[in-house]
Amino acid sequence: MAIYFISDLHLEPAQEAITRGFLSFLDSLHSAEGSLNDAEALYILGDFFEVWIGDDYTNEYIEVINQALQKCAAKGTKIYFMHGNRDFLIGKAWCDNAQCELLEESKLITLGNETILLMHGDSLCTDDVEYMKARFLLRNEQFQSQLLAKPIPERLEFAKKIRSESKESQKGKSYEIMDVNQEAVDKALSSAKCSTMIHGHTHRPNIHHWEFEGENRTRYVLGDWGDKGWFIKWQTGNELKLESFDL
Ligand code: MN
Repeated sequence: MAIYFISDLHLEPAQEAITRGFLSFLDSLHSAEGSLNDAEALYILGDFFEVWIGDDYTNEYIEVINQALQKCAAKGTKIYFMHGNRDFLIGKAWCDNAQCELLEESKLITLGNETILLMHGDSLCTDDVEYMKARFLLRNEQFQSQLLAKPIPERLEFAKKIRSESKESQKGKSYEIMDVNQEAVDKALSSAKCSTMIHGHTHRPNIHHWEFEGENRTRYVLGDWGDKGWFIKWQTGNELKLESFDL
């Protein structure tokens, strides 16, 4: 059995290749005869959807994705979902419908003998002060419930507005500012009392090894889906592997 991690698919109807790639990725998680590669669990670490305006809004596209997740869960895969900065409004209703379990924003899991900290990754980008301010508001429960109380057309407008604002503000920012802050990474690992983390968000797929106060630490970064689809795979007795395939 294997465990898979994905993030930053940014699913939306305009992204046909990514959508097709995701549907076949889900299909590939199970073989008819059962194999070691079959997915025991799938962790979706945020920015699964490019935009989310509330569980009460659905369309044909969302339904296709929901059904694919339901099918995957019915084959025996436990699916977990963690919010990203695009789909932070996903709630329990969607998760229940899509057969996913909603995770808190930092989640510790155990793989074999190892404890792993899972995050979306945006909370580690503390050098981006402007973004951190926006995040504080967007993740505020009261702000979210006020937003969800607005009519759907108004929420669609709001989503459009924050997307274009975020694109605008990214233009003037350096590569370093938009990456994780090393101190924030070490702080997160120390307070979770573990030495390995998996996150997405930065769209910089990589595996980083370093030493902190005599401890070897590792940070696995998932890639965003575009020309390639990215995932991390774990199998009993094996290391975590960062893999990609053409879309
Ligand atoms: Mn993100």
